Amino acid sequence: MTQKIRTRIAPSPTGFLHLGTARTALFSWAFARHFGGEFVLRIEDTDVARSTQASVEQILEAMQWLGLDYDEGPFYQMQRLERYQAIAEQLVADGKAYRCYCTPEELDAMREAQKARGEKTGYDGRWRPEPGKVLPPIPDGVKPVIRFRNPADGDVTWNDLVKGPISISNREIDDLIIVRPDGVPTYNFAVVVDDWDMDITHVFRGDEHVNNTPWQINIFRALGAPLPQFGHVPVILGDDGLKLSKRRGAVSVTAYEEMGYLPEAMLNYLARLGWSHGDDELFTREQLVAWFDGEHLSKSPAQWDAAKLAWVNAQYMKHADDARLAGLAAGQLRRKGLVVEDGQVSPAMTALFKDRCTTTVDLADWLAMYFGPVAASEEDRAHHLTEAVKPALAALAARLAEVAWEKTAINQAIKDTIHEHGLKMPQLAIPVRVLVCGRAQTPSVDAVLSLFDRATVIERLQSF
Ligand code: GLU
Repeated sequence: MTQKIRTRIAPSPTGFLHLGTARTALFSWAFARHFGGEFVLRIEDTDVARSTQASVEQILEAMQWLGLDYDEGPFYQMQRLERYQAIAEQLVADGKAYRCYCTPEELDAMREAQKARGEKTGYDGRWRPEPGKVLPPIPDGVKPVIRFRNPADGDVTWNDLVKGPISISNREIDDLIIVRPDGVPTYNFAVVVDDWDMDITHVFRGDEHVNNTPWQINIFRALGAPLPQFGHVPVILGDDGLKLSKRRGAVSVTAYEEMGYLPEAMLNYLARLGWSHGDDELFTREQLVAWFDGEHLSKSPAQWDAAKLAWVNAQYMKHADDARLAGLAAGQLRRKGLVVEDGQVSPAMTALFKDRCTTTVDLADWLAMYFGPVAASEEDRAHHLTEAVKPALAALAARLAEVAWEKTAINQAIKDTIHEHGLKMPQLAIPVRVLVCGRAQTPSVDAVLSLFDRATVIERLQSF
């Protein structure tokens, strides 16, 4: 029987789910789905001071918005403390971990002395048991940490799914703390116990963790646990080539929902950041799952490209279902402070404007004229609302009061009015737009007017 593929995403709830983690989640999810495996969500909340419930909720919301469904979890590390402690004690009993009673002051002094001697800094192993070594007397009142007894020699080597073969000498790494004085495990330890307990076969994560992996591999080995395969995905850089940060475009995934992006567009765009399938730029989630086998992951950093995301979103906007867009546009209109009842934004409205929109915010900008007053710019008013066109506007208002309220009849009323007043179509249609829509350019004017109620159109035409 072949092994069941199991992947996970393990965010720390110390902030929002940012783009890098969302992309790693997406890769892990797609990889599991591709192989008919399972995807697990684990919340790494051992940084108690910085973890918040609000952040947990935001992470769950972002996963749901992107449609990254998980088969198990969310698991919370803080609910598994006993398990980590039991494993740590087992390691101590087996001589693979030990208690260290160094105080923070002692560790600082150790580091300073190493620096002064021009040595690499790190734990010097003073509490590490060795055959024949006499350990210092246990001081009073110091709560010990538990340190992992890292192999002193040899190399840790793995074949990274993204970066290829990586080898790091054990001489480079010290005996890391696995349990803090308060009994809470550190990241590198909890992550191993969890990946083992949760039968994780493939670990995808950001490459800021490459340096943690040798410790983790050594701990897996000390536990006699099977090693997962590791894939370290390069960072996402900002448009400016610098690391994404709060100040440089790295807002939460859910902020993109507010900014009017569609989740399927976001998923498509994120998937292409550091992964490719030939020249394909637009693909469905089914295609992504069919194609995502862990190959073609880029070794070099991906660059965030806001203009490309906008383009991808615009493509998805064009094909999105009108009734669904109507619901999303209603939400955006309410965000703008307009009163919009459920069902008031019609699919006909979204159908008329969606082709010219990058986001649902753009769509709401168009549709706002149906739900609140409009105000054309002074420039448009001065340019298009001339005394010469005034009688024609009045005549059109009078005609529109009589006709059947639908596009063809509205079109006929406009045509009759231009003939009567000896005008060309734009000479009337543009002033009508400026008055009714608050702007000089719109899709075809009869279609735009037909979606207003008659009274509003007449009132706005008469407002000049
Ligand atoms: N909690 C870690 C993070 O958010 C998880 C890293 C991992 O996937 O092992 O970076």
